Amino acid sequence: MHLMIPGPVPCSPRVIAAAAAPPPGHLEPRFLSDFGSALASMRRVFRASAASQPFVIAGSGTLAMELAVQNLIDPGDRAVVLSTGVFSERMAEMARRRGARVDVRGAPVGAVPTLDPIDADIVFVTHVDTSTGVRMDLQAVRAAAPEALLVVDGVCSVAGEVLEMEAWGIDFALTASQKAIGAPPGLALAVAGPRALARHGLLHVPPPLSLDFGAWAPIMRAYEAGSPSYFATPATSLVRALHHALDEIEQDGIDARIALHTSRAAELRAAWATLGLTPVATVPANTLSALWFPDGVGPELIAAIRERGVTVAGGLHPDAKARYFRVGHMGWVLTQPDILRDVVRAIGGALGHPGTEAAAGCISG
Ligand code: PMP
Repeated sequence: MHLMIPGPVPCSPRVIAAAAAPPPGHLEPRFLSDFGSALASMRRVFRASAASQPFVIAGSGTLAMELAVQNLIDPGDRAVVLSTGVFSERMAEMARRRGARVDVRGAPVGAVPTLDPIDADIVFVTHVDTSTGVRMDLQAVRAAAPEALLVVDGVCSVAGEVLEMEAWGIDFALTASQKAIGAPPGLALAVAGPRALARHGLLHVPPPLSLDFGAWAPIMRAYEAGSPSYFATPATSLVRALHHALDEIEQDGIDARIALHTSRAAELRAAWATLGLTPVATVPANTLSALWFPDGVGPELIAAIRERGVTVAGGLHPDAKARYFRVGHMGWVLTQPDILRDVVRAIGGALGHPGTEAAAGCISG
């Protein structure tokens, strides 16, 4: 069975071995060096400045979102959320609970919000919205909000889409281990730039201790320096798996890895077009495809695809849930053209489409 949902994604054999070995102690020299190397690598993968601080904390992407909200907002702050779907709405709810005055700027399913000038203390944007497959132009967001702190939910984009934290003026970017980085689920990953770190230093209302940059930053710095340190026990097996996943990405280089996501996404879009499938997103991402069910077809297609050995995901956006399905295409699996052809064949076969072999032929290698 091939797991082709938009996360968790299939892990490479090396990452599986790293996750499956006996859990290391959190103060073992080997673990210190794996953790330190993962943190240093994150700065390169996020294209962050030397003055930025990476964080790796046990939890999922939702916890990484909470890290941003709790460390960068004081009650009463003015927040704008550019909403492309379910995950932007979640961010808005978190900001409201922290006491921010939240202005949500939405768009119809699959579209991007209009970028009128933004006057706010902080702006939240989902780079790739996993519920719709739509990608936002982060440089255009920065241009619309030149002053505000800019927080990017990159859960479905980091290591799969071009994202330049420093060059594009992004103050905080976050992801999770189970997406394009290609490790198992369970780690919240974030990088705070200098302006975000300074904002945290000026908070009037401290964050919950378990999420506080003030508690975690010295621990992350210690691990990066190779010295033992403790605030709360890290998820040691997962951190080791993360180190191997990032190291694998860096062996080819992050640019090559992103280029692979771009070229595979183009091949898959050609395959979907051959099968008569159209994307939900007006600006489709490289990391997943959200595809409308063709006329006369409904969610039963997902079970028929599964019978052919491939798991895809259903729709997620509440306004269109039953009318589309989603295929994740990120991480190691993109280096496996035979698997990708099988995925296209399973979908074409479930549709009973005569062009199935032609669609599979869109995948190179
Ligand atoms: N943001 C985006 C864009 C996501 O795709 C997801 C998960 N699919 C999340 C946030 C939340 O991540 P998690 O499920 O790991 O909590």
